[in-house]
Amino acid sequence: MDDINSVNFQFVVENYRDICYNIQNAKIKYNRESDNVDIMAVTKTVAPEIVNAAIDCGITLLGENRVQEFMSKKDFYRPCDVHFIGHLQTNKVKYIINDVKMIQSVDSVKLAEEINRLALKNDRVMDILIEVNIGEELSKSGVSRNNVLPLLNEVSKLPGIRVKGLMAIPPIGSDDDIYISLKDLFEQLKTKNIPGVSMEILSVGMSGDYEKAVKYGSNLVRIGTKLFGARKYMEV
Ligand SMILES: *Cc1c(COP(=O)(O)O)cnc(C)c1O
Repeated sequence: MDDINSVNFQFVVENYRDICYNIQNAKIKYNRESDNVDIMAVTKTVAPEIVNAAIDCGITLLGENRVQEFMSKKDFYRPCDVHFIGHLQTNKVKYIINDVKMIQSVDSVKLAEEINRLALKNDRVMDILIEVNIGEELSKSGVSRNNVLPLLNEVSKLPGIRVKGLMAIPPIGSDDDIYISLKDLFEQLKTKNIPGVSMEILSVGMSGDYEKAVKYGSNLVRIGTKLFGARKYMEV
């Protein structure tokens, strides 16, 4: 008899292979062959066994959106790096501070200060990304393009935090301008040489736009649906 798990989760193996193949092709097409593009598996609503199937395929990075859900699942994951990528309330930083390698969704001084405080208390330095609301959408979190530099100047004073780059969620169906504007911002900030800020990671691209994101400089794509299938229940 077939092992029921390997039968059930074969789709993850195939999806992962397709994503790798598509990224490789995008890199060739857009002259980025020598660049590294990391693939994050976004786990929201996905059962830990299925997440583990992705880790078995070669996924080395998970993306978590919700504190509560992460806390209930983390003990069941095989060893793997985790980044927090969802909206994070200041009063919940304490629950994740020791279980994540990076917080990608920092968009205020207040949140940065709490991360800094708890990082120092736990004898560590937390890597973060600044989340940019690149489409200037009222409904979305993230700091607007013009407020990124002022925020970086504040955050760079915090010894418990190291800024590693930018994260963004372009509006669905955005044309290339949005991606170009994000890439320009990233490149501009690189030249500023702000202490404690290194612009190494441009985290952009999800299931619907990762190839386009690779075209415009992404080096970390965050994939949920195309890896695990459509999410079964509504997101909160
Ligand atoms: C859900 C989510 C993703 C993945 O979205 P898919 O379209 O399912 O690939 C990526 N980034 C963030 C911040 C998310 O919340």
